[in-house]
Amino acid sequence: METDATRMCALLVGLPAITVLGVEDEPGEPLRVHVETGATTVGCAACGTRAWLKDQRPVALVDLAAFGRPAVLVWHKRRRLCPETACETRTFTETQPAIAAARAGVTDRAGRWMTRQVGQGQPVSAVAAELGCDWHTVMDAVVAYGTPLIEDPGRIGKVTALGLDETLFVRTGAFKQRAWVTSIVDVTSPAQLLDVVPGRTAKAPSAWLDARTQEWRDDISWAALDLSGPYRKTFNDTLPDAVQVADPFHVIKLANTRLDDVRRRVQQEVLGHRGHRDEPLYRARRLLTKGHERLDDKGEAKLLGFLEAGDPKGEVRMAWHAKETLRGLYDQNAADAAGYLAELIASGRLIDLILVLMLAEALLLHVHRRRTGRGLAAGGIVVNLVAGASLMLAVRAALTDAAPGWIAACLGLSLVAHVADVAMRWQEAPSNTGSARSGPADRLGRAGTRA
Ligand SMILES: [Zn+2]
Repeated sequence: METDATRMCALLVGLPAITVLGVEDEPGEPLRVHVETGATTVGCAACGTRAWLKDQRPVALVDLAAFGRPAVLVWHKRRRLCPETACETRTFTETQPAIAAARAGVTDRAGRWMTRQVGQGQPVSAVAAELGCDWHTVMDAVVAYGTPLIEDPGRIGKVTALGLDETLFVRTGAFKQRAWVTSIVDVTSPAQLLDVVPGRTAKAPSAWLDARTQEWRDDISWAALDLSGPYRKTFNDTLPDAVQVADPFHVIKLANTRLDDVRRRVQQEVLGHRGHRDEPLYRARRLLTKGHERLDDKGEAKLLGFLEAGDPKGEVRMAWHAKETLRGLYDQNAADAAGYLAELIASGRLIDLILVLMLAEALLLHVHRRRTGRGLAAGGIVVNLVAGASLMLAVRAALTDAAPGWIAACLGLSLVAHVADVAMRWQEAPSNTGSARSGPADRLGRAGTRA
């Protein structure tokens, strides 16, 4: 445990090589901690002559809150003088980047902390309030510490799927003119905003992409965009090998626009004029573009009623179904589907399903034969069924890790049935299908069914 008063103060302040001169504690004011660096002999930076101490000037720096209270570090900076008359340097002030950057109004640690807070989404005003300082002090620090981070080329890592999207940024001027920006996003999950460039034309995003390395662009396999021309042009020009994907939001939006076009056209045809407030298709317009799963029973009944009344040929209804089907496509999860299929195969349930279908087919063929007297003889069906089914059972045994004996037995049975099948067909062949009923296949078949 440290018990030396000077060292205790230095420990609490937590900065390297400083001495605490005193602490001001005015109620309602930030804690003011006065410090100086250790006095060392310093040579002039220009000529190397040992410098003289001229004076010490206090510089107040916003620091991290201490013990839940805003704090200010008052650094009594030494000013030194070069005694060499031939030297151009007259006076110079000590620097210590570990405490604060030259000319900064905040300590280095406070500047980094502010930048991280604002970077993680804290409002500048909230950070300023917590540190008991001015909004501009925080903003200046965020710009000073944040700019090198943004301009670091290593900031943007490997991207395999890139998206461009227009965003209304701000409305400016007396006429509230809309200013658009283009967001450049890494759309792999979780999506990350990489940059924002002005405008919504191809120019700015193309320039941004051109400024990256070819190697970086080569990693991009997917290019996500709305259905607008400018971004398509950007991708065509700068990422010609990436597969362009329309993002679902814009696809559904377009589907809704087309659905609305159909609704208005039908309205015009049926009524001879544009829809009015009380007319069924006009009243259906919001229900139509709403997601079906978001309609409750009442909404659904209303919509169907409006369509019944206003859509005699079912055109709007058809467009509505098309829109909902399109929406449904995005609900499919490829990973789930693949997992389900793998499970279906591995468990042997897929084979069970095929066996059931084979049996059903055999029964249908048999019934058809009994009713019409045409088609395959029962014996032929059975032999064929046994040959196919035992092959399937062999596959099932292999999939479910059954004993090799089972697999061999199933394959053997399949071979026997197959040979029998060929033998029967051989005998039937010369006498044509007409005599098939009294042929050996029928006898074998009857024997098979009896057994
Ligand atoms: Zn000098």
